[in-house]
Amino acid sequence: MFDENWRTAAHSYALALHPQSLTLLDEVGLASELIPQGRKITQVALYDGERREHVVKLDRAGGRYPFVLVLPQSAFETALEERLEARKVKVHWNHRVHEIRPAADSVTLLLARLQKETRGYPIAHTEWVVGKEYPLQCSFVIGADGYNSFTRRSLDLGYADLGGRLLLSVFEFETPAELPDEVRVVLNPENTNVLWPMADGRCRWSFQLAADHADALTLRRLHSLLETRAPWFKPLPDELHWSSVVQFEHRLAERFGKGRVWLAGDAAHLTDPVGAQSMNAGLIEAHTLARSLFEVARDGASDDILDDYGIDRSREWKRLLGLGATLPASESATPWVNERRHRILASLPATGGELDGLLGQLGLKLAG
Ligand SMILES: Cc1cc2nc3c(=O)[nH]c(=O)nc-3n(C[C@H](O)[C@H](O)[C@H](O)COP(=O)(O)OP(=O)(O)OC[C@H]3O[C@@H](n4cnc5c(N)ncnc54)[C@H](O)[C@@H]3O)c2cc1C
Repeated sequence: MFDENWRTAAHSYALALHPQSLTLLDEVGLASELIPQGRKITQVALYDGERREHVVKLDRAGGRYPFVLVLPQSAFETALEERLEARKVKVHWNHRVHEIRPAADSVTLLLARLQKETRGYPIAHTEWVVGKEYPLQCSFVIGADGYNSFTRRSLDLGYADLGGRLLLSVFEFETPAELPDEVRVVLNPENTNVLWPMADGRCRWSFQLAADHADALTLRRLHSLLETRAPWFKPLPDELHWSSVVQFEHRLAERFGKGRVWLAGDAAHLTDPVGAQSMNAGLIEAHTLARSLFEVARDGASDDILDDYGIDRSREWKRLLGLGATLPASESATPWVNERRHRILASLPATGGELDGLLGQLGLKLAG
């Protein structure tokens, strides 16, 4: 495994692991290790301003993990790396993939090892420079290299911007409020706002901003957002732990790869962060690809299973991104739900069949 960064994520970022992800992590004994570090969330409450409109239960489908686990992405990635190390799989940090040359029976990567170089006197400044370049021949390549994926660009695959950007101010802080084990999604007519309770008495609030709005990330600004958009949230915090402004886009790669080079995660899709669908779907993709590659390389299975992977994932993401009439208004849903059905779709912490079950509780049915 190669990554151009020098270490795992340093912040929370995506903070929710879906039940399906926990089931996958159970295969490598990680679920039981992670659960005590996080917070279990058993329902999603949908609000309109101060009005509580609907509750979606996450435990209706049963299963071994009838909850979403709130765990900072940084803690999750660290645990993954430790588990890889224990299995003698090394993550080569500071290694950038410079070139991908696919051939009929193998793929050659050109790798650049990055190293720190400090220059200047009396004011020194440090930058990462290429220390050594070398080729590596592989049977297959999985590009899980994020939204600006070099792998996707090397394959010359389009990454259409589907519109519907979401600009969010994100704040994490400690709170003495006794928050129940639920994520609260406030779907106001003009903005979406989300409260995630976290472990250790912390919580994360995300507030949608008007497009291209440069927002201050101060305590004062947080108080004003809470007072106007969630006046029921008390007491107001007196210290911030972390804050950020992030823009989320909706994008889908033209395809999920071809031949011996395949994509997983943000390299192939982007969506709103509210339901943490992108990272969790990425885990499913990495799992499916790893299993399929194993079957092709070890058991001599037909390459068709890789093409099937691409077809399945494109179909699922077209559903998730509401492309075409995939979420028609429903007679059994309330007018409030129907009006917000596309926003609700991206706000529920699930994908695939689990998402269908959650939408069903609101009388919605995802086609496709
Ligand atoms: C501030 C912030 C807040 C977020 N909040 C949420 C949230 O609340 N909910 C949610 O669902 N999602 C959220 N996200 C998005 C979430 O972090 C991503 O969906 C998730 O990290 C995607 O994982 P990935 O492995 O596909 O890509 P990434 O995490 O982007 O990882 C890609 C990796 O590829 C490496 N790489 C790239 N190019 C190369 C190359 N040429 N050679 C070698 N390595 C390379 C990078 O160094 C990086 O480590 C947030 C993101 C940010 C930045």
